[in-house]
Amino acid sequence: MSAATVELMDYADVIARFEPVLGMEVHVELSTATKMFCGCPTEFGAEPNTQVCPVCLGLPGSLPVVNEKAVESAIRIGLALNCSITPWGRFARKNYFYPDQPKNYQISQYDEPICGNGHLDVLLDDGSTFRVEIERAHMEEDTGKSLHVGGATGRIHGASHSLLDYNRAGVPLIEIVTKPITGAGDRAPEVARAYVTALREVLKSLGVSDVKMEQGSLRCDANVSLMPIGAKEFGTRTETKNVNSLRSVEVAVRYEMRRQAAVLANGGTILQETRHFHETDGSTSPGRVKETSEDYRYFPEPDLEPVAPDAEWIESLRGTIPEYPWLRRARLQAEWGLSPEVFRDLVNVGALDLIIATVDEGASVDAARAWWGNSLAATAKEREVSLAELPITPGQVAEVIKLVEAKTINSKVAKQVVDLVLAGEGAPAQIVEAKGLGMVSDDSALQTEVEKALAANPDIADKIRSGKVQAAGKIVGDVMKATRGQADAARVRELVLAACGAS
Ligand code: ADP
Ligand code: MG
Ligand code: ZN
Repeated sequence: MSAATVELMDYADVIARFEPVLGMEVHVELSTATKMFCGCPTEFGAEPNTQVCPVCLGLPGSLPVVNEKAVESAIRIGLALNCSITPWGRFARKNYFYPDQPKNYQISQYDEPICGNGHLDVLLDDGSTFRVEIERAHMEEDTGKSLHVGGATGRIHGASHSLLDYNRAGVPLIEIVTKPITGAGDRAPEVARAYVTALREVLKSLGVSDVKMEQGSLRCDANVSLMPIGAKEFGTRTETKNVNSLRSVEVAVRYEMRRQAAVLANGGTILQETRHFHETDGSTSPGRVKETSEDYRYFPEPDLEPVAPDAEWIESLRGTIPEYPWLRRARLQAEWGLSPEVFRDLVNVGALDLIIATVDEGASVDAARAWWGNSLAATAKEREVSLAELPITPGQVAEVIKLVEAKTINSKVAKQVVDLVLAGEGAPAQIVEAKGLGMVSDDSALQTEVEKALAANPDIADKIRSGKVQAAGKIVGDVMKATRGQADAARVRELVLAACGAS
């Protein structure tokens, strides 16, 4: 496992001599309320073995039933990836023994996957796109989790005993497999990362998964092989398992390219094996020698009906597929006329959807952007929550914006109103009413305050009368203070100048 004994070829030399081929396998846990074939809840982080039943524990005589919502999610994922949806397909049993999988087989799909032959055009760092062809996306169930106790590494090696948690057993999974990705050359590691990034964004925009790589709801295996430049046949691939961050995907692919190149250049051969990725130093180490599909003795699952989605259902689901997130961002940036930097800040604070919702409630883009992007973003940061978690709705922000536009309140009071909404005091109009925060626009009331302020500052009043209108600022300030900031400052200024015959 020590990196010192592994020879790595310089990356530029790898590229000069070899053409990389990639294959990405992504497992995504669906965020359905219940499991794939039973009614157990899927929530993450519960006490071990509290979300189990005879079906997901594989007890004799129990029978699975397909979760319709999971099929719906699978179809929507397929449509978003430009796949064709299989009109009739069966589940299959994938037979193997592993303690975290109590039935001795996993229900999966084999040669009749629900989605096949798609593609995803992914955005690279320089703004160009690279087409990744999708082989298939199929439905299966997740396994439980083993916890190896007593060893130093948490691996089974050196452990004194293992604990099993079946809460995850039977959680719906979609496995998305690419066709071999060729022609990426030196950009292969970047393409791998960009693909998983894009896929993750698509899945998130579909609302089918929480796509948290750190919690394992999105897991990525990277297949890598090399062939000499100009060769026709692919080389032998390795499959690096469970690469659990976007950056790691890139690091793992690059590492495997450099390692395999050194092996091949020294006349060695690559074993078809799974490999483990090590976050600490970005290396990979050998796992098990890979089974072939014959080893699994796949056969059609006899306990389940075939999945046969009708065309009408598929078409109605097609209507629910959102625009790709990166295309939507580009469109909004252009429509809103923002610089890349300003727009990126809004994206980073998670303001886009909130701004759009606020505009939908009748606010202008600029005002909505200012609230969510500036003062509310600052509040969210202060409270260490996301913008969406703040206790104020887009409708309420729009209401505040409209109150300002109608000159019911000025912008300074608006900030106060928003703070009161955040403090749970109610809706904006309600607060303005209850706290008497409406703008003092009654001229006679303002007139009285102006006269008071002028009388209290005779020297300044003289200056204004003699034409030094800049001096009016102090009087305006006093009147604003006297009206607790609720006056229209521009109107106050007009009244001051008029009173001094300077308008
Ligand atoms: P397995 O069950 O062994 O994981 P899959 O078919 O599920 O096999 O996934 C293999 C992945 O590797 C696919 O994305 C496939 O396109 C890709 N692949 C196949 N052959 C090669 C190769 N020689 N080099 C790199 N990737 C490959
Ligand atoms: Mg596979
Ligand atoms: Zn269950």
